[in-house]
Amino acid sequence: MGDAAEGKKPYCTVILLAGGSGKRMGTDKPKQYLEIGGKPLLWYPLSILEKSKVADDCILVVPQGDISYVRECIVEAGSFSRVRAIVAGGQERYESVWKGLQAAEKGSDRQDVSPEIVMIHDGARPFLTEELLERCFLEAVKYGACTAAVPSKDTVTISDGEGFERETPDRKYVWNVQTPQAFRQEILLPAFRKMAKELEQGDGRERLAWVTDDVSVVRCYGGVKIRLVQGDYRNIKVTTAEDLEVMKGLL
Ligand code: C5P
Repeated sequence: MGDAAEGKKPYCTVILLAGGSGKRMGTDKPKQYLEIGGKPLLWYPLSILEKSKVADDCILVVPQGDISYVRECIVEAGSFSRVRAIVAGGQERYESVWKGLQAAEKGSDRQDVSPEIVMIHDGARPFLTEELLERCFLEAVKYGACTAAVPSKDTVTISDGEGFERETPDRKYVWNVQTPQAFRQEILLPAFRKMAKELEQGDGRERLAWVTDDVSVVRCYGGVKIRLVQGDYRNIKVTTAEDLEVMKGLL
């Protein structure tokens, strides 16, 4: 793990996001609790975090009504000791992240520290690996902000919104963005504070309407360059029923 591991490793908290309702799945359960290999999806990234050399602890963000279920049936059942807190998410992803970030800062009975590096990972991406966590951690230490991403295998086209093609970017510049997205907390926290302030004042919703990840928030409010870290083509996210079939195959 290089320099960061020799001497003092920056304290790293992972915000594991599972606060969505998974409407696009069309199932009665949110997608993060659907099972593959007899375990809920959320179980898999938690198992990786439990053994990780870079992640010191984890804040789990879930829908308000699911906190007890997740605590008993996932965290306690799996003896996931690195879960420092389970907090309620918000309506939009960026609100869930903001709640996780605030919980990460507070410290807890177990660990009264504030993280230097924060990584955000989708609970609906079960195939996280320790290698990918380490790559993102090291690049966040070096560049301040990064995201896992893979070069697009497909040609991507931008539509005109009316069913016709408008333009096709050169494929060598097109990447598919994944998580983890990792940041130095001195960059992430001020960006989210700015965003929260704007939302409180009743501005910002429009500006954030297209925002579906955390690097977009940091780009928008933090103005820093985001490093692309080689992700993993297997690190897929469950969005629709077919994704679950693919995952079962991968498992
Ligand atoms: O909806 P999408 O697939 O982009 O969600 C990615 C991740 O963000 C999922 O793990 C989901 O549970 C989480 N999320 C959240 N709070 C929301 C919306 C999504 O924690 N309000």
